[in-house]
Order: sequence, then C-alpha cells, then structure tokens
Amino acid sequence: METIVVSPRGARRWRRGHPWIYRSDIEPSNAPPGVVRAEDASGTYLGQALWSPPSEISLRFLTTEESPVDGEWWHHRLAEALAIRDPENLDATGYRIVHAEGDGLPSLIVDRYGDIVVVQLLSAGLEAVRDHVLSAIDEIAKPKSMLLRNDASVRRHEDLPLEVDEVRGPIPEFVEAREGAVRYWVAAHTGQKTGGFLDQRENRMLMGGLAHGRALDLFTYQGLFALQMATPAESVVAVDSSAAALEVGAKNAELNDVHNVEWVEANVFDLLRAYEREGRQFDTIVLDPPAFARQRSAIDRALRGYKEINLRAMRILAPKGTIFSASCSFHIGRDRFFEMLISAASDSGRRLVLERTTSQSRDHPNVLTIPETGYLKAALLRAVD
Ligand code: SAH
Repeated sequence: METIVVSPRGARRWRRGHPWIYRSDIEPSNAPPGVVRAEDASGTYLGQALWSPPSEISLRFLTTEESPVDGEWWHHRLAEALAIRDPENLDATGYRIVHAEGDGLPSLIVDRYGDIVVVQLLSAGLEAVRDHVLSAIDEIAKPKSMLLRNDASVRRHEDLPLEVDEVRGPIPEFVEAREGAVRYWVAAHTGQKTGGFLDQRENRMLMGGLAHGRALDLFTYQGLFALQMATPAESVVAVDSSAAALEVGAKNAELNDVHNVEWVEANVFDLLRAYEREGRQFDTIVLDPPAFARQRSAIDRALRGYKEINLRAMRILAPKGTIFSASCSFHIGRDRFFEMLISAASDSGRRLVLERTTSQSRDHPNVLTIPETGYLKAALLRAVD
C-alpha cells in the first residue's frame, strides 16, 4: 500500500477529530487514488485514508486501525451505519443509510427509497474502491435495485465524470417510498440530490402533527410537507417555482387520496408580497427554502433573503398561527439564523414564541468535530397575538 506523509498541522487536525487533510498539509505523491497509509514526518503511523490526488481535500480519514480496508471492512462499517438507523422502528421506508463524514465514511452517501438504494461516490479515492463499496451496500441493504447518482457537481473537484448509472436495474421512472402515513413517488434518476430531501423527514412528520387551519407550504418541491399537513389542516397551499416538482406533488396527492392541497407555481418572494397586499392569512406556514448561501461570500445577501421571506410570512400569519422556518445553508450557522429570525420578528411587530428548535433527521448524524456534517437548522414559532 502507498504511504502519504502528512504535516504536523494536518496530523493535529486529525487528532482533533476532523477527517480532512488538505493538499497544503501533505508531501506531494504520485500514488494512484484509493486507500493509503498516512504517516507523519517522523514516520509514525496515523491511520488509513482515502487519497484523492486531484482534490484540494487530499486525504479523508477512514480508520486508525492497521487491518486492511477491504471488502469485509466496508461490510462491517455499512452494517454499523444501518443498525444505528434502526429501520424497523423508523416508520419510514425512505431514509439515509450513510451520511458520509457523519458516519465515518467520508464522501459516501447511501439513501434508501423503498426497494431502491441510491448511492453517491463523491471523491476520487472512494471511486477507486467502488467495487468493494457497492458490494457491501448490496450485502447489507439488500435492495431490489441500485442507482448511482454520480452527477453531483462536487465530483468536478475530484476530476470525476458526472454520470447517472443503473448498477442494478431496470429502475422505473418513479419508485414508491413512505414516511409516516404519507406515501410518495421518487424520481430517482432526475430528482434533486438522490431524489428527495430526506433530511427534513422528521420535521415533516412533526408538522403532520401540528398543522392547523389554512396551511401554506413554501418551497414545497414534491409536496411532502404539504401532504403531511393535509390531514390535520383544513386546506394547504403548496408553492414552488418548479412546474415539474409540482407535477410530482400532485401525483403524490393522488397516491394518498388527498384533495385539499392547491399546487401553485410561483416565486415565493413575489407571492408573499401579493398575499400581503391582498390581506390573505394562513394559520400554519412552512418555509423550507433552498440554500441561499452556497458560498461564504453570499452570506449577507442570503440573510437578506431569509429575512424577507420570514418577515412576510410573519405578517400574513393568522392570530395564534404557527411557523416552521428552516435554513439548510451550511455557511449560515445557528446563531446567525436566530439573529435573522429575531430581527424579522421585531420588524413584524408580532409576538412569537420559540416553541422548539430542530435540525436534520437523526439518520443524518451531525458530528460535533465535523461542522460540515450539520447544516440544517429550524425553528417552530407560535404567535401569541
Ligand atoms: N420542502 C421540500 C424541499 C424544498 S427544496 C421537501 O421537504 O421535500 C427547495 C425548493 O425550492 C425546490 O423545489 C425549488 O424548486 C424551490 N425554489 C427555489 N427558489 C424558489 C423561489 N424563489 N420560489 C419558489 N420556489 C423556489
């Protein structure tokens, strides 16, 4: 096995619990991508890692043990990841089996939607051991079919092609999954991420218990918050700018025999302004926008965007109404998110109680020493007035 030499700064980072070593913290090497041994400058063994020569993130730590990272190793780690999910008691057939660094398996995403497993291999080092990884997933998750959604743009930083590949097919255009009482279709080949947003599963089920009166689901995508809320609420307006996403939303409503959801194609910013002008009010409002800050440089602009939609939602919230507001921008931390909410509440003149703070579902483990594993934060607010 090839050996890569890591600088003292890189070694310190590992010991503090972060799995990434940057290019500036290793000695250059011509070793091909794959699993390598890492040592410090004095020759002390540090562990084994995924080696990605083309990437700024050169090494991703796998283990301190010296036993080989072979098929058996991947099998064992996959089994551990699945056991933590306790799928029997999850009350969902759509859930994440591996959350990359959050499960000690850097750059690997494995999501299950019913019979199908969707995989992303997001580094050159991982791609090099793809056969071991895919066999282990197959043995542990035992899916009927398996799809590689290797079209995530981060693969460009690894000099890897963007492609979608049926490892085991054929896979129909739509596969069925469930969370709580809601059944839904997943377009595994073309849907966002691996087909859906599993990180909001627990929050959607929370809103399925709390929604009341006239509900508004903003940035609905394929309608999963809307469908959870459709049972307890009188009616739901579900809004997205993507006609294709709304079409699947309507198909999902049909699958659940739900008839009180209205699907509205609009830009949320414009629609909220129009609702405010018309004096329309809602008793329950969900705000689940896409990441407005994809880079650090976008933070200020993103915060203005978040504040605008939250402020307008607070203004059209009926007396005693409930707002669930989320942000999935990694670059906007919990403190900034809550400062934004406080500022919006203050401008709105509403008296809002913070009933609960939540984050991503538990099948997306957020490791304290790896901030990148936790990105979703959310607040459940109730109007006193
Ligand atoms: N709430 C969804 C996930 C939302 S993802 C769920 O639980 O599954 C974000 C969605 O916002 C995408 O579907 C995208 O099409 C939509 N979107 C992005 N910008 C928008 C805008 N300005 N107005 C309306 N929808 C928008």
